[in-house]
Amino acid sequence: MLMEVTCRCGWTTRGSKSAVIAAVQAHGRSAHQQEITTAEVRAIWRMVEGSGAKK
Ligand SMILES: [Zn+2]
Repeated sequence: MLMEVTCRCGWTTRGSKSAVIAAVQAHGRSAHQQEITTAEVRAIWRMVEGSGAKK
């Protein structure tokens, strides 16, 4: 199971839960000078099936 987050700026990331949380927090700091909590990531992410190659 993968999680996906699309930022309001159009940036998007996909991966395992821990990877997505880390990526979103790093993006928030570097792109928006904003600290994003784990709870905030959990509020906006969505589940995606696999990598898109297979259903
Ligand atoms: Zn952004």
